[in-house]
Amino acid sequence: TKSSNEGFPHSLVELLDGFKASKTLFTASKLGVFDVMSDSGLTVDEVAIQINASVLGTEKLLDAAVSIGLLHKLKCEDKLVYRNTEQARQFLVSDSPLSLHAYILHCNDMIWPLFNHLESAVREGTNQHERAFGKKPENVFQDIYFKKDDMVMRFMNAMHSIAKVSGRDVATAFDLSRFRTACDVGGCTGAMAYEFTKAHPDLSVIVFDLPAVIEMRSHFQPLEQDSRVSFVAGDFFKDDIPKADLYILARILHDWSDDKVHGLLSKLSKTCTPGCGLLLSEILLDEERTRPSRALLQALSMTEGSQRSATEYSNLIRKHGFSPVHTRYTDNLLDAMLFVKDD
Ligand code: SAM
Repeated sequence: TKSSNEGFPHSLVELLDGFKASKTLFTASKLGVFDVMSDSGLTVDEVAIQINASVLGTEKLLDAAVSIGLLHKLKCEDKLVYRNTEQARQFLVSDSPLSLHAYILHCNDMIWPLFNHLESAVREGTNQHERAFGKKPENVFQDIYFKKDDMVMRFMNAMHSIAKVSGRDVATAFDLSRFRTACDVGGCTGAMAYEFTKAHPDLSVIVFDLPAVIEMRSHFQPLEQDSRVSFVAGDFFKDDIPKADLYILARILHDWSDDKVHGLLSKLSKTCTPGCGLLLSEILLDEERTRPSRALLQALSMTEGSQRSATEYSNLIRKHGFSPVHTRYTDNLLDAMLFVKDD
């Protein structure tokens, strides 16, 4: 029989174990557990061989993964076998269309080390790149891009996986039928841009991003190429940004201080004529800045940026002559706001 224990702090105990659950997901992903699974199920010994790990450690990892809903464990004839859950099949297998695998590796390799130094980050009010990775970047993108190609690829893979999961909901959040040309500023692999052209048959999208990113774009092109998506390399703080009648800023402004955001918005505002659009996509905080916790937890490892509410974004963007038209909370990873340049 189950006794009720209303005073017990279940949610706190869950938080105590939260990091163990995250690391179980990261490690299983990194070792390729979800990739080697077959529909008929694999025994511990079979998985251990395939992921090149000890039987003892593999058994613990698989059982932990079962306990947090990532795998099924079932009896098949006289053997115990493990199998991917439906969610793992859809989002954790590395080559599934909506895979979060690359983003999970980014969390393990880039974000986890930063969180190891959270106490210092809070005391000092600075990001912890130097402690975590042994070097002091001027900003996180310099760190990533001025290093080696594999770092760029890892970052692009991570962005690509989130953009693929959230892109459709962002692209279809508003009626954009009056726009013909868009520029996806900091558009990375083009994953969002392709969602926009898919959703809007009359729209062409220029993806604008740093040269190191644009150089790697061929690794991320969909099988069905779309001539309405093109790529231009440049620095959005220093170089001219291509002309367009809709500017997309997806996951850009949260990386930067208000000062830098004003610099970028003022450039965009100068190239925009009345009626031009600005589509912002971010996690929007509620007005009290208390939710969603996903955004506030992410902010702990952010470099110089911050998370903002719809009103805070509106206030920043209004200063550059744009008025908010619609806000869409998508229930996906990213929300969206549409602004139009005033007359
Ligand atoms: N918009 C994409 C998305 O939502 O999937 C990528 C978002 S990612 C967080 C930020 C992007 O901004 C990266 O692709 C990065 O290379 C680009 N970026 C950062 N600094 C830049 C700069 N100074 N000029 C152009 N692009 C820049």
